[in-house]
Amino acid sequence: MSDTESGPTTDTTTVPIPVVPEPPEEKPRVRTAAEMARRADVSRETPDTPIAEAAWHATRVLARRLAGELPRPAVTRVITVANQKGGVGKTTTTVNLAAALSLHGLRVLVIDLDPQGNASTALSIDHHADIPNVYDVLVEGRALQEVVQKVEAIPGLWCAPATIDLAGAEIELVSLVARESRLKRALAAYESNMDYILIDCPPSLGLLTVNALVAGSEVLIPIQCEYYALEGLGQLLRNIDLVRGHLNPALHVSTILLTMYDARTRLAAQVAEEVRGHFEEVVLHTTIPRSVRISEAPSYGQTVMTYDPGSSGALSYLEAAREIALRNDQQAGAQEPLASSAQEVR
Ligand code: ATP
Ligand code: MG
Repeated sequence: MSDTESGPTTDTTTVPIPVVPEPPEEKPRVRTAAEMARRADVSRETPDTPIAEAAWHATRVLARRLAGELPRPAVTRVITVANQKGGVGKTTTTVNLAAALSLHGLRVLVIDLDPQGNASTALSIDHHADIPNVYDVLVEGRALQEVVQKVEAIPGLWCAPATIDLAGAEIELVSLVARESRLKRALAAYESNMDYILIDCPPSLGLLTVNALVAGSEVLIPIQCEYYALEGLGQLLRNIDLVRGHLNPALHVSTILLTMYDARTRLAAQVAEEVRGHFEEVVLHTTIPRSVRISEAPSYGQTVMTYDPGSSGALSYLEAAREIALRNDQQAGAQEPLASSAQEVR
């Protein structure tokens, strides 16, 4: 046996193994009492896991629903949702309030009076060109019950859809007899036991909106909490005065609802304060928050009440519906202050 075979091999090419430094000892992090208290608080508000969160939302919704059904009005309440300013939340308010009232056990009809047909879309109601719709009622004199469709997803909710035909109605109505009272007549002939009829108006003060103002006694004005929120409101209030003076003595603004309220901005709070200063008790205590879930719902043909029942948007519409239903509609006395504030707002 040679030396090379028996002795230890000395390989001059071996690279020395680098010394890896020991990682610094990590001390277990101790939470302060304040952090622990904060965590406990947060977990009471919004649970950690998605399942726990869903359960928490469901419990809250259920708790509110079980808090009692809302009273049925003695006669059908017809509420016109109007504001000639575009994109302030008229349609969103109409469909979500309607759904919320239905979920409280009431029977509700939504009349889509906007050629855009957004309310019909949000309620997943067929409204392509051949579908009998509100145009037929206003212009052709068709009975309302012939165009009303059931909203499948929500028991107790119906919708009279709008199609693009309605875009021509503004002009065609001009030459018709009793052009401002066509919807009122249709409602008078409509045999139903609806508790509420909510009318979604287009963003204009034309004959379609006038028909809605003549047909019902209550107006709900959604106001978006943003700069220029009160712009144009004076004109709307003056139109309401005119309709009350000439065509519908019972007409009054019963409700103002602040929409798209962003609690993080001072502007929203300022607008809310200004609106409450002007209109006092007709402004609902509930405000509708700006919420992604609310804006997503229509693209699924849903209201937020079914799309995400536990979301802040759904809960606030439930709350707004409760406020409206529980008010015993004594706002007729508020007509004068509201009419005079038409001079004050821009
Ligand atoms: P138009 O005058 O065109 O009929 P509108 O007054 O009916 O408009 P909506 O269609 O209800 O207004 O709302 C305008 C847009 O704002 C829509 O895209 C809607 O999804 C969104 N929106 C409404 N309310 C909220 C909210 N609370 N949070 C977030 N988005 C909202
Ligand atoms: Mg609309």
